[in-house]
Amino acid sequence: MSDGTETERTFAALPPARGHGFAQTWWGRRWLKALEDTALDSEQLKKGRRQAREGAVGAVSVRPGRITAVVRDRDGTGQRGDVLLQELSEAEWDRFLDMAVDRAGHIAALLDREMPPHLVEDAAEAGVELLPGIGDLEPECSCGAWDLCPHTAALCYQVARLLDQDPFVLLLMRGRGERRLLDELQARSAARAVVDEPEQSVEGMWADEAFAARDVLPPLPSPPPLPDSPGRPQALGTETAPAPGVDAQALEFLAADAAARARRMLIEALSPGHRHQPVEPGLTTDQDAVRLAAAGPGTAIAARLAAGTDRQRAELDLAARAWLTGGAAALSVLEEEWTPDRETQARARALLAESWEAPDRPQLRAAGGARWTVVGADAQLRLSPDGRWWPYRKSRGRWTPSGPPAQDPAAALAELAGEAD
Ligand SMILES: [Zn+2]
Repeated sequence: MSDGTETERTFAALPPARGHGFAQTWWGRRWLKALEDTALDSEQLKKGRRQAREGAVGAVSVRPGRITAVVRDRDGTGQRGDVLLQELSEAEWDRFLDMAVDRAGHIAALLDREMPPHLVEDAAEAGVELLPGIGDLEPECSCGAWDLCPHTAALCYQVARLLDQDPFVLLLMRGRGERRLLDELQARSAARAVVDEPEQSVEGMWADEAFAARDVLPPLPSPPPLPDSPGRPQALGTETAPAPGVDAQALEFLAADAAARARRMLIEALSPGHRHQPVEPGLTTDQDAVRLAAAGPGTAIAARLAAGTDRQRAELDLAARAWLTGGAAALSVLEEEWTPDRETQARARALLAESWEAPDRPQLRAAGGARWTVVGADAQLRLSPDGRWWPYRKSRGRWTPSGPPAQDPAAALAELAGEAD
């Protein structure tokens, strides 16, 4: 109904109002309060409210300083009612725009068709009254009444509904259409950016404004969409060398790792039946360093991780390889020896005896702790305290983690055979 460039806006007649009152917003109520405080005769108000509720107010024209509509009486005759409101002077607009250009949040709220209380307060501080007060609404009507009549009252009630939907209606009455107002703000903002530091001309929204705007914000999508891939962090490499001790490459790597973990947590949190199990239980610094090494961070970062965890580079590579087969548990199987108690030993031996049919059963030799080496093959099975079997293969003289664990030793060893294929 309006492209915002003109100085007059016309709003089609609204259907009869149902249920709730005429003003839902705080600024709409302030508008009605000005009307009601001004009226000398509350009977006129009542009649006007009834006429507005019945849909007797025709199209409303809003112009600087004036609102107008034809209001139909019950006998079918119409009266032209006008309500006048003082326009702001050039000097007042100048102060208002100066204030608003400093408050990005105010304008953002207005564009959301919301009038933040702070906008009105800040304007008042700048000596600009936006909302009408007592005596500010001046009625004129073709019915000849010298004061408020039902027609002009009905018009004011109807305009409260329009104000609810769009606070720019008030600013137009005060003298500026939306487009002109935004153009002037932009011009001022651009002029100011030349002189000021850019961050000084931008300010956020007050918490109470954000809170007040909560009802006009669209609801969050439910469930929130999952990103297809983790976000890519900012590249930190610049022509300027970083400060001493700052490793830009390592920071980029850590930021990428954080993004990937955040996405995994999101997936976990959104999966049905999720019970707030952490993606990874709390890791020690050493475990976390191995986890990072397993992500393949490149030579320089891997060297730092090795030094930081007191490992040779080859040891760190082995640890990272273990990590990929089963996280912290796998790392412990690689680097820590444990001795099962007598009962666990017996159960393990029984399981090793039962897991294969006689002709396929490999010859196993206890290698100390919870490890069994396959005789005649560079293969080993390791038992972890949680009862899982981990396949190992000898490679370049080192026992190397070679696959995910299994509850069944034969299945774990089959993993090795599969790898050999
Ligand atoms: Zn009248």
